[in-house]
Amino acid sequence: MALIRVEGAVKRYGAAVALDGVSLRVDAGNCLGLVGESGSGKTTLLRSINRLTDLDEGRVLVRGNPVNTLDPVRLRRSIGYVQQDGGLIPHWTCLANTSLVPGLLGLENASGRGRRALDAAGLDPDTFADRYPRELSGGQRQRVAIARAMAAGPDILLMDEPFGALDAITRSEAQAAFIALRRAAGVTAVFVTHDLVEAMLVATHIAVMKAGRIALQAPAEDLADSATGYAAELLKRAGVAG
Ligand code: ADP
Ligand code: MG
Repeated sequence: MALIRVEGAVKRYGAAVALDGVSLRVDAGNCLGLVGESGSGKTTLLRSINRLTDLDEGRVLVRGNPVNTLDPVRLRRSIGYVQQDGGLIPHWTCLANTSLVPGLLGLENASGRGRRALDAAGLDPDTFADRYPRELSGGQRQRVAIARAMAAGPDILLMDEPFGALDAITRSEAQAAFIALRRAAGVTAVFVTHDLVEAMLVATHIAVMKAGRIALQAPAEDLADSATGYAAELLKRAGVAG
């Protein structure tokens, strides 16, 4: 079943066209790696899924419901979202950050859920619960951001270049933690990255964006075979094929 479906999405900013007719689907349990260079429309597409951006044309369905018929606040609380910079509340402890959404949803034992989410993201709650984001390394901060996004047990997780600012070793640890967490939680994800190698590592399916359009969409394992044109060029540059 398609948990996320995008149909003919168009978004303009003045004369600039950020999305130029994008269609895609993400089935339950899959992870779509959304790849493309800066300015290709990845963030705009991601934010149309939780209605942080409203489309000019086309529509987005989440769990079969057109998102423009849903209450945006409730929709957002039902979907985990990790922004590019993590987006943690700086003057709140890690536990306050990870307990936020369970609390807003009125779930029982919000702080217990916040602690479990830290643990699942590979951070010992006894060590990290009372720390502030500024007291963490970049990799730890991104793990807290993932824990916060997952704490209420959403079935959908949206990630916007979550590991883009990390050094190579920290990044590969964070990728491994994400892969394990996603499998354990069975969450359906859209993972935005400008790095095709990272996408092929973490995602089950890949969509390559260029200038607001999908240049190619394929299961990760078929990508090297099916790539033509721009996508083949990208693969070649990434050292994945060619
Ligand atoms: P990506 O995430 O792939 O880097 P974006 O979705 O952020 O791309 O941006 C796609 C295009 O839309 C870019 O040309 C960008 O400048 C433009 N854009 C995005 N958000 C806005 C905005 N709020 N106002 C004006 N232009 C925007
Ligand atoms: Mg972006």
